[in-house]
Amino acid sequence: MKINITSPSFDEQELLLLKQCLDSKWVTQGEFTQQFESLFKQRHDVQYAFATTSCTAALHMAMVALEIKPDDEVIVPAFTWVTSAHCVEYVGAKVVFVDIEPDTFNIDPAALEAAITPKTKAIVVVHLFGLAAKMQEIMEIAKKYNLAVVEDAACATGTNYDGKPVGGIGDIGCFSFHPRKVITTGEGGMVTTNNPKLAERIKILRNHGATANPNIDTSKPYYMGNFDHLGFNLRFSDIQAAIGVAQMAKLDKLLADRLACARQYDLLLSSVSELTIPQMPSQCGHSYQSYVVCLLVGGIDRRNLLMEALATEGIQSRPGTHAVHRLGYYKNKYGINSTSYPYASKSEDLSITLPIFPGMTDLDQQKVVNILKAALST
Ligand SMILES: *Cc1c(COP(=O)(O)O)cnc(C)c1O
Repeated sequence: MKINITSPSFDEQELLLLKQCLDSKWVTQGEFTQQFESLFKQRHDVQYAFATTSCTAALHMAMVALEIKPDDEVIVPAFTWVTSAHCVEYVGAKVVFVDIEPDTFNIDPAALEAAITPKTKAIVVVHLFGLAAKMQEIMEIAKKYNLAVVEDAACATGTNYDGKPVGGIGDIGCFSFHPRKVITTGEGGMVTTNNPKLAERIKILRNHGATANPNIDTSKPYYMGNFDHLGFNLRFSDIQAAIGVAQMAKLDKLLADRLACARQYDLLLSSVSELTIPQMPSQCGHSYQSYVVCLLVGGIDRRNLLMEALATEGIQSRPGTHAVHRLGYYKNKYGINSTSYPYASKSEDLSITLPIFPGMTDLDQQKVVNILKAALST
């Protein structure tokens, strides 16, 4: 028997809407995309939402829309998925890494403030594994230094900070619908904002840089738009949006199921003193997109043995995520010392993401924990 690290939830509703989409013969960005965006906007309490091909594309458009330029610096946590940093490189700006808090895996606000220079223009705040970052402290710092805040909420669809959904707290929010995330459309992403000027730019960037041509009546057969901007084709497809609409309808149920699985792991692991369990500081909601534990005693070799023990029993696990500053591209480009950002490095070396998904049974969770216990005692 195999237990995968995740398992997306699909039923007849996805099929029904998918068929509706195909029957309509309209499969690129259209009415289903609008409906998906509208549901997303309502749920996340934001003025604007633009569906796109991935969270990576969303982050890229955020950097372009904020007019981040080659000499600018953008602060990024050192422990995250690589594209939280790549988006800064796409526009030729400089990534400045900041270490994380070991207990939340999220950016350390004090270290963030210490990394600010006159060249700093923006911060990419990551709600890693679905845990909301400490937005109050971060927004205060951003205001004090006049910095833009991009929320990388790839893992945090439907998560709150202090009762407010993430993605609408900073200037721009970016979400992912990759199959490992809370809801999925195969691949996909969303850009959210409450700023009409940024919204207008993102809308244009997503659609080849096209804007309306006020000099020709749009109903004329010879109408052509204007192209005054270097845009991209990062439009969503209605095939994906049909699935997205079905997924949004069950978002709260999916989140409740993940939370229940997390509480069950908390309970089962409470007697395992050699592993940390995920923390939830007050105000910070958690989607439990990933349930990440860390080994407290021993190093990476022992962590790897635990993961091997799980794999032997057919249980999939993964390290939490990357210490991005240690990856070749960043190490070589910035000549970063391997002892920098110790909490990010330690978290990469000692973390294990356990299987978690709606519908995971208590029995399977017990099995995962029993294997970890047995491996820890050898
Ligand atoms: C998954 C993820 C991304 C990338 O999302 P895609 O939709 O796969 O491009 C970015 N940042 C974080 C924190 C992620 O977990």
